[in-house]
Amino acid sequence: MSVILELLQRYFFYFCNVKKPFEIIAPGGVTKVLLHTCCAPCSSAIVECLVKHGITPTIYYFNPNIYPREEYDIRKNECSRYAQSLGLEIVDADYDHERWLLEMEGLEQEPERGPRCLKCFKHRLLKTAEYAHDNGFSVITTTLASSRWKSLEQIEEAGLYAASQYPDVTFWAQNWRKGGLSERRIQIIKEYGFYNQQYCGCEFSIRPR
Ligand code: SF4
Repeated sequence: MSVILELLQRYFFYFCNVKKPFEIIAPGGVTKVLLHTCCAPCSSAIVECLVKHGITPTIYYFNPNIYPREEYDIRKNECSRYAQSLGLEIVDADYDHERWLLEMEGLEQEPERGPRCLKCFKHRLLKTAEYAHDNGFSVITTTLASSRWKSLEQIEEAGLYAASQYPDVTFWAQNWRKGGLSERRIQIIKEYGFYNQQYCGCEFSIRPR
């Protein structure tokens, strides 16, 4: 009897410790999503993972927070290069940094991960949800969540807020740092030789060297 008990215990511990493969399912099982994309490095492993799971992302590039304009263009062009190499569509949205600055008024001195960042996420994801609503996408998600420098809670709050303004749009709050995606991100950055920025994006996040 004790031998049987011991065998059962061993099987139990074995099955508990087997690593499950990383699987993702989009809300509602949809096969196309609108992916708000902040930069090529952050999007790299997420885009690859979506495609591998039979989900086609349309890249939505809306980042009026980025300063200066030259930096914005470099990041956007890298996103276009990656999308084109995979045969994916990229939507080039507006760059209105003055309007973004007006929205952030009074929050200039806030630290990263503070209230300015939450407002910045809401600004970008609200526009993403609006585009989704106007163009037949029922699910949005964002590459912002791949960066370990950003607050997952803030991104989720902003995404849920944006989707709540459009009843036909759902925010997909996937944790994109899991499933080996962080490691894969480093490999793809090397493979493509992506430009890897040294600051988040706005002028307030540029630190003196
Ligand atoms: S630090 Fe980054 S997330 Fe925060 S406001 Fe600036 S650009 Fe937006």
